[in-house]
Amino acid sequence: MIRADRAISWALPSRIPILNAPESARPFTPEPLPATALKGVGPKLAERLRRLGLCTAADVLLHLPLRYQDRTRLTPIGQLQAGDEAQIEAKVVGSEITARGRRFLLCHLVDGSGVLTLRFIHFSPGQQQLLGQTGARLRCFGEVRQGYNGLEMIHPECQRISPDDPPAPAYLTPTYPTTAGLQQFTLRGLAEQALEQLETAALLPELLPAELRTRLRLTPIAEAVRLLHQPPAATTLAELAGGRHPAQRRLAFEELLAHQLSLRRLRQRMKQQTAPRLTGDGELTGRFLERLPFSLTAAQQRVFTEIAVDLAQPRPMLRLLQGDVGSGKTVIAALAALQAVETGAQAALMAPTELLAEQHYRNFQNWLGELGVEVAWLTGRLTGKARRTLLERLAAGDIQLAVGTHALFQEQVAFAELALAIIDEQHRFGVHQRLALREKGRHSGSRPHQLIMTATPIPRTLAMSAYADLDTSVIDELPPGRQPVKTVALPDSRRDEVAARIRQSCQTGRQAYWVCPLIEESETLQCQAAVATAERLSEILPELRIGLVHGRLPAATKETVMATFKAGQLDLLVATTVIEVGVDVPNASLMIIENAERLGLAQLHQLRGRVGRGAIESSCVLLYRPPLSQVAHTRLAALRECHDGFEIAHRDLELRGPGEVLGARQSGEQTLRVADLLRDQDLLPIARHAADELLRDHPDCIEPLIRRWIGVGARYGEV
Ligand code: ADP
Ligand code: MG
Repeated sequence: MIRADRAISWALPSRIPILNAPESARPFTPEPLPATALKGVGPKLAERLRRLGLCTAADVLLHLPLRYQDRTRLTPIGQLQAGDEAQIEAKVVGSEITARGRRFLLCHLVDGSGVLTLRFIHFSPGQQQLLGQTGARLRCFGEVRQGYNGLEMIHPECQRISPDDPPAPAYLTPTYPTTAGLQQFTLRGLAEQALEQLETAALLPELLPAELRTRLRLTPIAEAVRLLHQPPAATTLAELAGGRHPAQRRLAFEELLAHQLSLRRLRQRMKQQTAPRLTGDGELTGRFLERLPFSLTAAQQRVFTEIAVDLAQPRPMLRLLQGDVGSGKTVIAALAALQAVETGAQAALMAPTELLAEQHYRNFQNWLGELGVEVAWLTGRLTGKARRTLLERLAAGDIQLAVGTHALFQEQVAFAELALAIIDEQHRFGVHQRLALREKGRHSGSRPHQLIMTATPIPRTLAMSAYADLDTSVIDELPPGRQPVKTVALPDSRRDEVAARIRQSCQTGRQAYWVCPLIEESETLQCQAAVATAERLSEILPELRIGLVHGRLPAATKETVMATFKAGQLDLLVATTVIEVGVDVPNASLMIIENAERLGLAQLHQLRGRVGRGAIESSCVLLYRPPLSQVAHTRLAALRECHDGFEIAHRDLELRGPGEVLGARQSGEQTLRVADLLRDQDLLPIARHAADELLRDHPDCIEPLIRRWIGVGARYGEV
């Protein structure tokens, strides 16, 4: 029977908005001035600005330059050197369009110290006219190159100067990040306009309490913004380029603070929700533990206690479970699910890929089926009547645990009484997708508890920023008897040796993986590479039973191959990176990864985590195609030396940057505007601390800060 009050619809909005937004402005902040209030911003320009995320005049001010050009000085032509970016002022002494070969517009200039040629490959009649006026004075900015007949500038920016024009600008000239159809001078003009109105229209009122600003010695916001758009000529370009200027730090700090506040507020609101109290009697969990062939590690026990306590509360649990590859998170998921089932409610488990969803399904079916728990697999292959029946049983509460991919749960799936949502391998989902999942059931009175599991340990500072809304549990111990996977890197010219090694290992009854990662843009080509590799290996190793899985195989075939491998009826599995996460075959003890130099550190660590899952000594061979780039070399060396997921995550962060580590880049979502999580790491604990203070002592600041930095368009996390 469907109990309407607990029936939860799992519909996701088609576009996931960014974090959350306030419901109304505080009295002391004026309505933000829309960008269209700036002179010259019509509907077309407004649309282009919107593409850059600029909706208000304040947004224009927070859109900071990427870099600066020094046009405050004029360089005499005689002092120019090839390679300089420079500004000159000189007189036109002649111009011509070259007649032979390619058509160029050339213009010759003199300034008393030397001669310079301007060269244009494309030119308009207007330019031709401007440059053709012998005697005219031009101011040009561009890069100096060595031409056939002396120094040249190719396609410089040129401006005609009359004697009473103002001298060169007193400020460094900003270059902004832009989008198609939006010129630098338009952005410069808008920033100038907004700066003029900065105080009069109170575009960026100071929102931080004076006491905090004094204590942290923060530059006033208006001063910071003014400096960054119009740096005085004396400002050190290097400091600006490094992002370490006090003005930049001030804005980065405020932005990080706003994100902290937004996540924390989201958390507060979630915590005000009610959730079903899952106070199981321990009957099922007890029987489950008895049947397990091993006992929980101390870390698993501790983590499960933390979760069990949360689940028994009438408020939704929001917990991130971190644990390195192979640390045994699945057992914890099963225990949490059983606690829901014991209480008569339902649980759902979401995995990032079909393959992983299937493996979880089989695992749970195996473990929990015997205990009389109804487990269902929501697969994409299920259609028509079978699918309808399954959904009906889910809505009626006949199914106690549903397993599927994230995509499947996006569709309309109704539960009778969903009490716990478990999300596996969170790193595959973007930060904001995670928040979106929380929206499930916003129309019902009660929310499910959430357990999010990830094998990508997130460095502490990052975790504080991106997961400020979650409690964290860490499994910091591997099951006993695990040995580090011996890792070597070999040039792929030594494939024969590797084949011999596979033969040897499989003769002792062990199994092996051969991974062909993405080296082509297209999945089809990637699959073809895997097919070819499998064929070649069959020729070299005719005595081995070799299987193949890749993304293009029909799901049923994939499953059969995986099941056969798992049952020990295949010796070697050739695979694309579909096996990257979660696949668990403890008897596999050797992994070969081709083109290892193309993969990221975290991905390599994930792949390698497919072996070394039992007590057998395992190894991993990283095949690369020489020559190795410096970064690739560093990566492979790090993997050889290092077996701890946290350490690897830290190095990965340094090599790749936080956007990718957190998965935001993959999902193409808005990241930070000014702050850079890596560069500004030291600001994170300070922002976190300041967030505590504001929440406690200055709650009025919170709304306007979030509104300033995170925007008003989205309505995320509202309850
Ligand atoms: P992950 O954390 O990467 O998801 P899994 O949950 O897949 O790891 O567990 C990896 C392997 O370790 C599995 O084969 C699992 O059965 C086994 N395992 C989990 N916990 C223990 C334990 N306490 N003792 C021994 N083996 C364990
Ligand atoms: Mg797992």
